[in-house]
Amino acid sequence: METLGPYDVVVVGGGLAGLRAAIEARRHGASALVVAKSHPVRSHSSAAEGGVAAYIEGASDPRDSPLQHAFDTVKGSDWLADQDAVELMAFDAERAILELEKWGCLFSRDPDGKIARRPFGGHTYPRTRFAADKTGMCMLHTVYERALAEGVDMLYEFYVTDVVSDKRKVYGVIGFDVKSGDVYFIKSKAVILATGGGGLMYKFSTNSYLNSGDGYAIAARAGAPLADMEFIQFHPTALYPSNILITEAARGEGGYLINKNGERFMKRYAPERMELAPRDVVARAIMNEIKEGRGFEGGYVLLDLTHLGEEKINERLPLVREVSIKFAKVDPVKEPIPVRPAAHYTMGGVKTNLDGATEVKGLFAAGEAACVSVHGANRLGSNSLLETLVFGRRAGMAAAAYAKEVGYSEPPKEALSEAEARLWLPTTSESGLSFGQLRKEVGEIMWNYVGIERNEEGLKTAVKKLKELMNMTKYVKGSGGPGAYELVAAHETINMVMNAYATATAALWRTESRGAHYRSDYPKRDNENWLAHTIMRWKGTWEMEKLPVTITRWPPQERKY
Ligand SMILES: Cc1cc2nc3c(=O)[nH]c(=O)nc-3n(C[C@H](O)[C@H](O)[C@H](O)COP(=O)(O)OP(=O)(O)OC[C@H]3O[C@@H](n4cnc5c(N)ncnc54)[C@H](O)[C@@H]3O)c2cc1C
Repeated sequence: METLGPYDVVVVGGGLAGLRAAIEARRHGASALVVAKSHPVRSHSSAAEGGVAAYIEGASDPRDSPLQHAFDTVKGSDWLADQDAVELMAFDAERAILELEKWGCLFSRDPDGKIARRPFGGHTYPRTRFAADKTGMCMLHTVYERALAEGVDMLYEFYVTDVVSDKRKVYGVIGFDVKSGDVYFIKSKAVILATGGGGLMYKFSTNSYLNSGDGYAIAARAGAPLADMEFIQFHPTALYPSNILITEAARGEGGYLINKNGERFMKRYAPERMELAPRDVVARAIMNEIKEGRGFEGGYVLLDLTHLGEEKINERLPLVREVSIKFAKVDPVKEPIPVRPAAHYTMGGVKTNLDGATEVKGLFAAGEAACVSVHGANRLGSNSLLETLVFGRRAGMAAAAYAKEVGYSEPPKEALSEAEARLWLPTTSESGLSFGQLRKEVGEIMWNYVGIERNEEGLKTAVKKLKELMNMTKYVKGSGGPGAYELVAAHETINMVMNAYATATAALWRTESRGAHYRSDYPKRDNENWLAHTIMRWKGTWEMEKLPVTITRWPPQERKY
């Protein structure tokens, strides 16, 4: 094993949150290294299409305000978001977007030259800023260039298996260079996990193949609690049958959802907001149409954009057109697109405070890996890109400040050797248990029992099966050495099983329905018992506790759209 560092701050993840954090750490005088299992610009952030929410003075509806944005977010979250975090994000949004624009991000413009905005689900006024339907790509390239200019070191195609910690404090990360297979211990005072979401544990998901949710499992093993893992967002419109995302911007620009009778069925579920109700509401509506026999054979409905016209589709939704033609042989200018819901976003994550800090000293998290929490039980579209910028920056600042205070100390010997042994485990497995088989099983279990609609019986089955799979993970096989892609996949799968086990356990524990967590056996929201975050700690099994939600201005109301 070779050693690198020590660095002040090591960021795991080269997506928007990780790069934004690293930039800020540098700006506060810290040495910073970004480690990513992909090239940074291939991170899932680059797949974000629809846009990023922000009230911008002079370029917003006159009735809009940061406070309105915050309220919409709290309502969207079904009152589970922490309102101090939400307010902070909404009030910092304008600064975050203008900063990115100064760094060179080419946002689409209105005819008067102002940064354009489009409507998005659950946002009262149009405030979603975009670069056509390739917003994430544009933002990610901008922060990547900026990070290089600020002197951030980068290590690409390097897989981190664990944070090295004694459960109270971090000492760095351990992992391997995928190309050479060489193993490294990278020493650092602070570590920021910005590893993105974990949607890949579902059979149907819009997420990229990178999104195995490594950061959740890594943090839990390092001693940090996770929060609200039962809340998984299902995006209403993934292309049938490939599950590639058809952005909500398609509905924002005026697209309709229709069932096999040609009916705009959203009028039955959200008469006011229709297709622009929040995602949990629209996803459940689609599943209900399919369940009651009004979907098309194979299980999908249609998204109709034909009335928008070719010019608007080409200007505002070019990627939607390209993807539909390439992957479903449907030209949205001429015919409606077949769509169905798919797992999309992990609302829960590594529990952090407003500065990204966890309970473990020196361990921070940001972006989709973290749960601050601003999305609560249901994220509003276009709030997540914003979260990466606002809380990535704060985590970078806080990690740099922490690194300034402490000296570097060497890890306890056992902590390092334990982490190294875990890294090699799949290479010594003789049973030959294939990660592919295990992944397939996890995907089926999660989709069938921990999906859009849940109940006690199904969740109990899921927890039991996942516990068994958890015990099997020590037998997963994956060889190391040069081109260690098998070893990557083996570790990703182990993490996916652990995350799936967390999600199923939390979903069984929460006996109410709230936002994206819908229990057919407990169909009502229960504020008396469950206006609380689910906190879980890994002790070989998941230990659960509740933490009250922070309410600043808005006590729970009925959630109607
Ligand atoms: C198809 C799609 C469209 C979306 N559209 C929008 C949108 O329009 N608006 C919006 O607000 N949100 C959108 N989202 C959500 C949003 O894009 C993500 O939540 C956000 O980009 C996550 O950024 P991140 O930096 O946290 O993680 P990511 O961008 O996912 O980056 C994670 C990084 O971590 C690295 N990594 C992970 N594990 C390891 C490991 N073990 N070792 C080393 N490196 C590791 C990866 O290589 C990657 O660099 C969309 C999501 C999807 C899937």
